[in-house]
Amino acid sequence: MGKLDGRVVLVTGAARGQGEQEARLFAEEGARVVVADVLDDQGAALAKEIGALYVHLDVGEEAQWREAVDAAGQAYGRLDGLVNNAGILRFNALTDTPLDEFMQVVRVNQVGCFLGIRTVAPVLADGGTIVNTASYTGLTGMAAVGAYAASKHAVVGLTRVAALELAPRGIRVNAVCPGAIDTAMSNPAALDPEADAEETAKALDGLYRGLVPLGRIGRPEEVARLALFLTSDDSSYITGQPFVIDGGWLAGVSVI
Ligand code: NAD
Repeated sequence: MGKLDGRVVLVTGAARGQGEQEARLFAEEGARVVVADVLDDQGAALAKEIGALYVHLDVGEEAQWREAVDAAGQAYGRLDGLVNNAGILRFNALTDTPLDEFMQVVRVNQVGCFLGIRTVAPVLADGGTIVNTASYTGLTGMAAVGAYAASKHAVVGLTRVAALELAPRGIRVNAVCPGAIDTAMSNPAALDPEADAEETAKALDGLYRGLVPLGRIGRPEEVARLALFLTSDDSSYITGQPFVIDGGWLAGVSVI
């Protein structure tokens, strides 16, 4: 028995990184998965490999959400879960951030999550689940990522409100708040075929040994297991909560 047998789950930003690992794990656990992304070649290849459906979905585009949900309905006849995982990051001091850049981040991370909830919730089966990907920076500050942190705080707010509004239908809405996770977002060298993987891994280990109590960067597979918990009946009495997965980073600082 898989933990998601008989369920249909749509994962955004699923062509790579955390979304990819979520799609893989959910399929292993018996779900029929809809892989959604703007990286069509990677997304379609993953979907083929794991027996999922691929849909092109830019999460900031309202019409594309409707098309994606229609495609899921045509393929599988129902929808039981949504993981709003797609996201982008830009580094800039707030006072140097152009409005266009701020809006670009908000459009994907915040509007994408809002449109996902608004489009999917009405057709989601009663008892379904929504998992929104916020961040460590959805709960605390971090210099140089103001637009990103603002959008991720908003995702936590959307999660709480959606949980209250959808609870009468037994739909549970929670957020995952990852710290630093080893994907292209925190480790752009992962996308560079010329980069020395061993050197990069050493540099990352060095950086996070000093910052994170558990002394290492997180793995996308670890976030996928949390998303599975929140999408399965294992979390049947949990809704409206942000779940931090950060190796202890948010717990505080050591002075000695
Ligand atoms: P990633 O960059 O590997 O994956 C992001 C995915 O989102 C990519 O597949 C990308 O194509 C997709 N995407 C981007 N814009 C999109 C759009 N408009 N519509 C649809 N898909 C789009 O990084 P990741 O770490 O796997 O990121 C997944 C989520 O985790 C994001 O929401 C990110 O903000 C969040 N997060 C990441 C970290 C980290 O350290 N990696 C930490 C906290 C939170």
